[in-house]
This record gives sequence, C-alpha cells and structure tokens, in this order.
Amino acid sequence: MSQVINDKALQGFPKQLIRSKLQEFAPYSAAKPRNFETKVKLNANESPFALSIESFDEINRYPQAQTIDKIRSLLAPYLEVREEQIFLSRGSGEGIDMLCRIFYEANEDAVMVSSPSFSLYENYARIQGAQVSTYQTDESNGFYICPQKLLEQMLPRTKIIFLCSPNNPTGQSISEEDLLVILDGTKGRSMVLVDEAYVEFSDQGSFSRLLNDYPNLIVLRTFSKAWSLAGLRMGCILGHPQLIAFLNKIKAPYAFSSPSLETFAGYLTQDCRGKLEHFVSHIKEARAKLSEELKALGVIKQVFPSDANFIMCKVDDAQKIKAYLGAKGILVRVVGEAYLRLTIGSEEENTMLTKALASF
Ligand code: PMP
Repeated sequence: MSQVINDKALQGFPKQLIRSKLQEFAPYSAAKPRNFETKVKLNANESPFALSIESFDEINRYPQAQTIDKIRSLLAPYLEVREEQIFLSRGSGEGIDMLCRIFYEANEDAVMVSSPSFSLYENYARIQGAQVSTYQTDESNGFYICPQKLLEQMLPRTKIIFLCSPNNPTGQSISEEDLLVILDGTKGRSMVLVDEAYVEFSDQGSFSRLLNDYPNLIVLRTFSKAWSLAGLRMGCILGHPQLIAFLNKIKAPYAFSSPSLETFAGYLTQDCRGKLEHFVSHIKEARAKLSEELKALGVIKQVFPSDANFIMCKVDDAQKIKAYLGAKGILVRVVGEAYLRLTIGSEEENTMLTKALASF
C-alpha cells in the first residue's frame, strides 16, 4: 500500500508551470557538507576556530526589531560606515539574491560577472531572468581584470557588475585604481558590487571608504569567514541609504531567528575583535607556510598568490586528486579541470593535507 502511495507521489507535477528559463536550471553547487567520515574540512573556506559565549531564552516571541538596530549601531564603527548604509542579511548569499530581485527586470536587464569567480552571482541573476555577460580572466596574466576591457564588454542594460575582492577562487584583490576606472565608467548607468567576503585576510582594507563618493557602489561583507560565524548566517550589504531603504521594503518579515540575532549581538558587544585579529594573523602565517610547502610538492604545478583564507593551485587532474583526498577524509574544492582551491585549516589539518598530497 505504501509503495502505491509513494509512486503516485512522484507523478503528475505540472512542471510546465515553472518559468521556462528555470526549467533546466543548473543549481549552485555548494561545498559538500560534513558527514561522520569527514576528518579535515577544507572545501568551504570556513574558519578552523570557534568562539563560544552563553545562550539565551524567550523563544516564544517573535524577534525584537530593536536587536537589528542595535546590531547596526555596533557594526557601524567597525565597518566605518553610517548605520543607514548597512543592511543585515542572512549571510551575504541572501544579500546577492535580494539585490538581483531589486534590480532585474526579467528578460530585459543584464549582469556582468567575471570567471572564474563566485558562481552565486550568476545563479541569482539568472533566476531573475537577467542576461549574463562573462569577463573571462586568464591564468597567463594572473587572472587580472582589465577595467577598460570589462567596460567594453558590458551589455547595454547591465544593472550590476559583480566583482569579488579578494576573488574566490583565485585569491587576488582588485586595486583601488582599477575599481575607480570601473566606478567612474558606470556612474548613473550600473551598480558595481564588490564582494569582500575575504577582505579581512588581505592588507588592502575595505572599499567601503569609497561609498560616500560613489552612489553606484555596493560592498558586500560576511561574518562567515574571518569572523568564524558561518553557522550563524550573518552578512551585510553596505550601500547608499536609499538602496538600504529599498532592501528594507522587500525583506522577509522576522527574517532572523532571535537566537541568531542575540548571539550575534553578544559577539559584537563582547568585542571579539582582539581574538579575530589573532585568528586572521594566524591564518595569514599558515597561508605563507602552506603555500611554500605546496610549491615543494611534485603533484602541485603552480601555486597562485592569495589575499584570502584559501590557496588556489594548478594540478594535472583536479578531480582525481579530490577523489584521492576524499578517500582519506579530506575535502577540497575543484575549480575547472586543472585547479584545486584549498582552504587554510588548523596547523594539524594543513599538515594532514600536505602529507596526503605528498603521497599521491
Ligand atoms: N561571497 C563569496 C565570495 C563567498 O565565497 C561566499 C561563501 N563561500 C559568500 C559570498 C557567501 O557566504 P555567506 O552566505 O556565508 O555570507
């Protein structure tokens, strides 16, 4: 009997009602989550460190709106922006989705992305029906984005140019000089988003310093990486106060759970910045060490310089190495056919990684 019910449950869905552009949509492929066999997890650029503070109660009520205001007031000095320039999102991933929903007129507007880069920009833009133009970067010049060429390749109705600095997965940052060329070349025509998910690991500092001069600039920040809070799902969009007001109009009611808001406010009031700075300098030292160790391994053809908490390297057969490491309980990320992206883990994890690679 239950077999009959199960079979019926699989039939008859009116798939033709789903928007035609989404019928064959390829979803974003997220890093494989942990399972009981996982020993070393270096595939999602998470922090190997954990902060801990006390929990809280009052779960019977909807979350207090004032908690978000309090969080914004605590974040403003840290991010060096005004409170009205901050929109809190559930991870920066949700911020990308919300921006695409605000800007894209289906089948009319376009998005500009670079490749290789974080693929969620293109995914969310496609879901909104945007045309996609891709600026292809090249290994031969260090995956450099030439601002003039990027501007030439813009489709006429480009509403957002997505840049990632430091870039996931290549690890290099965009210079202020190049960003200014793009911002000046698009003023009043297109928004320019700089995703700074990994900015804390770079020496360059945030481009939020340019927000007051460039109303078309949007900066994306996350608390999942250097802040070591990936499980909390906190990120923010920094932009013009009018953009923030639009985002507030379309946001989900009670989007955050009280425990996550309270926990986040707790981390901010307890001022964990000293600890975070320690974590970041530790990761930067480990990055330099791992980079040298990788260069010495025969299996690694090239190691690219990185401003982030991961290192991209060139190999002969990335899938084969990923499978080999996977069998040893070590998760890494593959980029194309010939590159691996390795998150910097704890000292012990990095040693397990290099030992495993040495025996490949
Ligand atoms: N931007 C970049 C460049 C990322 O690499 C990631 C996650 N890997 C995100 C945004 C999204 O992170 P989160 O939603 O956890 O803030």
